[in-house]
Amino acid sequence: MERKEFKAESKRLLDMMVNSIYTHKEIFLRELISNSSDAIDKVYYKALTDDSLTFNKDDYYIKIFVDKENRTLRVSDTGIGMNKEELENNLGIIAESGSLAFKKDNEIKDGHDLIGQFGVGFYSSFMVADKVTVITKPFGSDKAFKWESNGAEGYTIEEYKKDSVGTDIILKIKENTEDENFDDYLEEFRLKSIIKKYSDFTRYPIKMDVTKSKLKEGSEDEYEEYIEEETINSMVPIWKKNKNELTKEDYDKLYEEKHFGFDKPLKHIHIKTDGTIRYNAILYIPEKMPYDFYTKEYEKGLELYSNGVLIMNKCAELLPDYFSFVKGIVDSEDLSLNISREMLQHDRQLKIIAKNIKSKVKKELISLLKNDREKYEEFYKSFSKQLKYGVYSNYGKDKEVLQDLLMFYSSKEEKMVTLSEYVDRMKEDQKYIYYATGESKERIEKLPQTELVKDKGYEILYFTEEVDEFAIKMLAKYKDIEFKSVSSGDLDLDTEEDKDETKKDYEENKDLFESMKDLLKDKVKDVRVSKRLKNHPVCLTNEGEVSIEMEKILNAMPNDQNVKADKVLEINTNHEVFKSLKKAYEKDEEKLKLYTDLLYNQALLIEGLSINDPVEFTNNICELMK
Ligand code: ADP
Repeated sequence: MERKEFKAESKRLLDMMVNSIYTHKEIFLRELISNSSDAIDKVYYKALTDDSLTFNKDDYYIKIFVDKENRTLRVSDTGIGMNKEELENNLGIIAESGSLAFKKDNEIKDGHDLIGQFGVGFYSSFMVADKVTVITKPFGSDKAFKWESNGAEGYTIEEYKKDSVGTDIILKIKENTEDENFDDYLEEFRLKSIIKKYSDFTRYPIKMDVTKSKLKEGSEDEYEEYIEEETINSMVPIWKKNKNELTKEDYDKLYEEKHFGFDKPLKHIHIKTDGTIRYNAILYIPEKMPYDFYTKEYEKGLELYSNGVLIMNKCAELLPDYFSFVKGIVDSEDLSLNISREMLQHDRQLKIIAKNIKSKVKKELISLLKNDREKYEEFYKSFSKQLKYGVYSNYGKDKEVLQDLLMFYSSKEEKMVTLSEYVDRMKEDQKYIYYATGESKERIEKLPQTELVKDKGYEILYFTEEVDEFAIKMLAKYKDIEFKSVSSGDLDLDTEEDKDETKKDYEENKDLFESMKDLLKDKVKDVRVSKRLKNHPVCLTNEGEVSIEMEKILNAMPNDQNVKADKVLEINTNHEVFKSLKKAYEKDEEKLKLYTDLLYNQALLIEGLSINDPVEFTNNICELMK
C-alpha cells in the first residue's frame, strides 16, 4: 500500500470541506452522480466511435446502496473507471480551476461561498463523510485499485479486486453532531428526494433498492415489507421536454446544476426547432457578470450534445464574441459524434445553428428591452461593453445586429436611452446625433463644448466608456443620421449670420490668432474663433478621424501607438479674457506668451489631458496673481 500526501491546494479545499458549515451539504450526492454520469458518457462515446464495441443501454447505470448499520453510502457506476495514474491525478490533485484560483487570494476561510457558487466535485463528499473509499476498475484493463482517504493529510492507494469495470465511491457517513443530523444521508426517503431534486435529468438510470410494503397474502390489514429496485430519476433531459411541462424553477435548477453562474439567470431561451436543422437548446442570459469575465481564463461557449451525448463542454463556435456571456446547452441529432474541434469550425450544420442562436439571442434581448426595461438595463450594466466591442470588431460586420441593443445616457432624459429613442425625438432642424465623451457623466456635463448644442435644445449622448466612440465611429450612422461629437471642429450649427460674424472676428484679430498659433507651434493645428462657447474662454476641438478622447485611450495602451488628434484651440471672442488677450498682444509680448500658454493648458485640463509642465503652469498662475 502506498501512502501519499495531498498537494497544498487540495489540502486546503479538503480542510474546508471537512469543517464545512455549508448548509446545503446534500449537494455532495449531485456531484458524485454527475461524475458517474460523465464516466458512463465516456464509455458510451467510445462505443459510438468504435465499431468493435457495443453499448447495451441496460448495462449502464448508477446505483446507490445504503448500509445503515455500517453507516456507509455507496455510489456505484458502470462508467469508464480510472487507472492508478488517473486516480492519483484526478483525486489527489485539485485542478487549478477558476474557482479556486480566484478564491485563493480572497478569503477561503468560509467554504459557504465557494461551495454555493461553484460546486467542488468529488471533494464535497468530505462534508458528510469521515472517510471516502474509491474502488475502481478502468475500461480495457484487468487491474483494479482502491483509493482511500480520511480527508486529512493524504490518501492510500493499493491494488484491489473488482469484477466489473466502473467505480464505487463509498462514504463513511459522519456521526451526528449537535447541529447536524448526518443520519439523514442514510435515509432512503431523503436520498430519493435529493436525487430527484438535483439529478432528475441525469441521462442514465439512478437506481436504488427501496423498501416497499404490500398486503400480506391472504390478509386484509397486515402488511409486509419487501425490497425492490427502483429507478429514481426521470432521465429525459430538460431540453427535450416541452416548454409547457417546465417551470422557471426547472430552468433555474439546470443553470445551477451546470454551474453556469452563481447568480440566477436573468432570462432563459428554450429553443426547439424542426426545420432544416433540428436542434434543442436552452440558453441563458445571466444577470451578473461572471467574476472572470474580463480575464483570459474566461472561455465562451455552449455545451454541445449530439442526441443527448455530450460532445464538448464549451463549443465556442456557437457564439459570437459579443454574446460570450450567453450560457447553455445545445443538442442536435444532426451532428456527428466523432466530430473534432478542427472539423467543427467548418461544419455546416453547426454554422446554421450558430446563426440561428445569434438571431434568437438578439430577439430575446430586444424583447427584454421592450418589455422589461429595468431588467434590460441591469443586463446592460454588466454586458454593454461586450455589445459595443461587437459593433466595432470585425470591421463592423455585425453592427446592424447590435445597434438596437445599445444605450447611452442622455443629457435630456437624464437616463439611458436607445438610439432609436434618440432619433425619434430629434428636433426638426437637427441634422446629427450628438455625443460627448468623457470619464464620467459629471465631467461631461461640465464640458464647455456641450454648451452650444444644449442651447439649441438638442439631446446629447454621453460616452463614458472607452469603447464607445470607437463603436460609434464604426457605426457611422444610425437610420441614416450621422453621429457628431460636440468636440468636433465643425459642428455645423452656425447660421449664415454666425459664420459672417466669425469671419469678421477672425479678420479683425488675424494677427493675434497667428501669433498664438506660432507660440503653440505643433501643439495645435489651428487657433480659431469659437461660436460654441458661452461661459468659457477656451476649449479644444479636433479635426479629422481621431478625437481627443481616442488619442487618450490609444496612447494609454501598452504598445504605445503615439496617435495624435488634430487639435484646434477655440477662443471665445465674447469673453472678458479675450480683451486681456488683445491688450497683451498689443502691448506686451511676454504677457501674450504667458496667456497663450495658460489658456492652452486650461483647455487641456478641461479635456482631462495632462499638461506638459505642471510646475511651469502653476508658476505662471502665481506670476499672474502677483
Ligand atoms: P470534476 O468532476 O469537476 O472534474 P471532481 O473532483 O469531481 O472534479 O473529479 C475529478 C475527476 O475525477 C473527474 O474529472 C474524473 O476524471 C474523475 N472521476 C471522478 N469520479 C469518477 C467516476 N465515478 N468515474 C470515473 N472517473 C471519475
